[in-house]
Amino acid sequence: MSSPRPIEIIGGGLSGLSLGLALRRAGVPVTLIEAGRYPRHRVCGDFITGLSPATIARLGLAPFLTDALRHREVAWFHREHLIRVQHLPTPALGLSRHALDARLATAFTAAGGELRTDTRAPDLTPAPGRILATGRARRDSPWLGLKLHVHGLTLTRDLELHLGDNAYVGLAATETGAVNVCGLFRRRPLAAPGPALLSAYLIAAGLPDLATRLAAATPDPDSCCAIAAIDYSALPPEPDVIRLGDAHGLIPPYTGNGMALALQSAETALDPLLAFANGHTAWPDTCRASTTALQRRFRVRLAAARALHPFFLHPRRQHLLATLTRAHLLPLRALYALLH
Ligand SMILES: Cc1cc2nc3c(=O)[nH]c(=O)nc-3n(C[C@H](O)[C@H](O)[C@H](O)COP(=O)(O)OP(=O)(O)OC[C@H]3O[C@@H](n4cnc5c(N)ncnc54)[C@H](O)[C@@H]3O)c2cc1C
Repeated sequence: MSSPRPIEIIGGGLSGLSLGLALRRAGVPVTLIEAGRYPRHRVCGDFITGLSPATIARLGLAPFLTDALRHREVAWFHREHLIRVQHLPTPALGLSRHALDARLATAFTAAGGELRTDTRAPDLTPAPGRILATGRARRDSPWLGLKLHVHGLTLTRDLELHLGDNAYVGLAATETGAVNVCGLFRRRPLAAPGPALLSAYLIAAGLPDLATRLAAATPDPDSCCAIAAIDYSALPPEPDVIRLGDAHGLIPPYTGNGMALALQSAETALDPLLAFANGHTAWPDTCRASTTALQRRFRVRLAAARALHPFFLHPRRQHLLATLTRAHLLPLRALYALLH
């Protein structure tokens, strides 16, 4: 029997790492190229919604999630006023990216994967066996993501979601005891060093009470990070290439579903890639099968999440969202099902 064909994965976020690990466990030679290193904080709300036991089992993720918190309730705030407490149909998992990415990277290496960190792949052109798990496409956009872990901040519910002026912010406890504060903001001409930038953005977004709670807490300066160029428009499909996670399609963060989508995309591409690695299919057919399956699984979810996104950001639509939510006229269960 001939040995399996090798796979090269560019990008060591959740999609690339989970795919690499699953392929290695099936005996496929995998090289994973990552521009950064582990452990590292990421701009992320650090909670996962919609990750099913089936995906956890298929990708063998259970050992990495044992200490994840189970978040059951979300308190929604509009301009600092509580408008609704939502009971999640299934608990969201509270786990820092600092821990999760590093755990997967360690397991990938232990399973015999070749991991090249601190290496930015210069060549992203399609090639047989090459997977692009490179995260969001960098395109000009007015949106900015900011994140900080703090200690000593008391939450009113497991998760808090605050709507501000052209901004929303999520608060979630993590397995370390720290509270993760992470928001999406329209860029403003604000400058401040490290953690102070998040406070400046909160105040500018009309969330001064949240800024005061943050100021009273103790920041973890190492966790402070920011990203720009976040564009939620759809990407055109390309032939002969497999894109996973955010590189396949960026889901707005209010859903808390980007990490689940990244892992599910690895799960979806796994069987076509195993068929390729074992010599049963040619690369173009593998790409077609993967891309069709990814589109079938995520098209409706991504379209719905993008259509609703302006209601979380723009003041007039936020007002409508808040009014409907407060009056219990928003079908939260049905929306949750649509977005997960
Ligand atoms: C403000 C904000 C809050 C969010 N909150 C949540 C949340 O609460 N819950 C949730 O589930 N999701 C959330 N998300 C989304 C979530 O973080 C992403 O969907 C998830 O990280 C996608 O994983 P990925 O593997 O596709 O990409 P990434 O995690 O972005 O990984 C891509 C990797 O590719 C590497 N890379 C890129 N180009 C190259 C190259 N040329 N060579 C080598 N390496 C390269 C990068 O260094 C990076 O490590 C949030 C996003 C934002 C912006």
